[in-house]
Amino acid sequence: MSGALRVRDIINRKITRLKESASVKEAADLMLKNNIGSILVEKKGKSIGIITERDVVKKIVATGLPPTSTKLRDVMSSPLIAIDCNASIGEAVQLMLRRKVRRLIATDGEDIVGIFTERDIVGSFWTCTWCHKRIRRSSLLVPKEKPEFYITCTCGARYHSPCANQIVHCHECSSSLIEMDYPDPEETLSG
Ligand SMILES: [Zn+2]
Ligand SMILES: [Zn+2]
Repeated sequence: MSGALRVRDIINRKITRLKESASVKEAADLMLKNNIGSILVEKKGKSIGIITERDVVKKIVATGLPPTSTKLRDVMSSPLIAIDCNASIGEAVQLMLRRKVRRLIATDGEDIVGIFTERDIVGSFWTCTWCHKRIRRSSLLVPKEKPEFYITCTCGARYHSPCANQIVHCHECSSSLIEMDYPDPEETLSG
């Protein structure tokens, strides 16, 4: 059940890093190339801040600063707001609200093990209307998790594909679930 979910279960473990002296242009190019929303900013091997898509838009596009000569250290969000990877999702959400940030750094002791974003939270709470278990999706980017096939009924209810095959008719609206197209789970990446 979702109540037992921990930060470590849904964090994005693919961390991209750049030096504080790198330009905003380099960061933006890397975000596009790797389809990522944030990059950790390092100084002498230590992570000191984070730059997000939003920072690029807000601080560069909107102000007209030149992206090729503006350094990450000038526009990054700092300090990093960290949460223990064993904390609950609820604790992470509280911290985000309290600190007014959209991303947290998940830590395991001294190590940064992932980035926790608003988007991960939304994706993590898709549950099957029939079995009430979580529907694993590729947007979670958790390497150990294989995304599952699921279908969305016209009424908005979601089911694991095996569950839909078993019940045949939607539990909420009684529509037939069998004739529906099954989306490829990989296509749900942007959630
Ligand atoms: Zn199910
Ligand atoms: Zn339905």
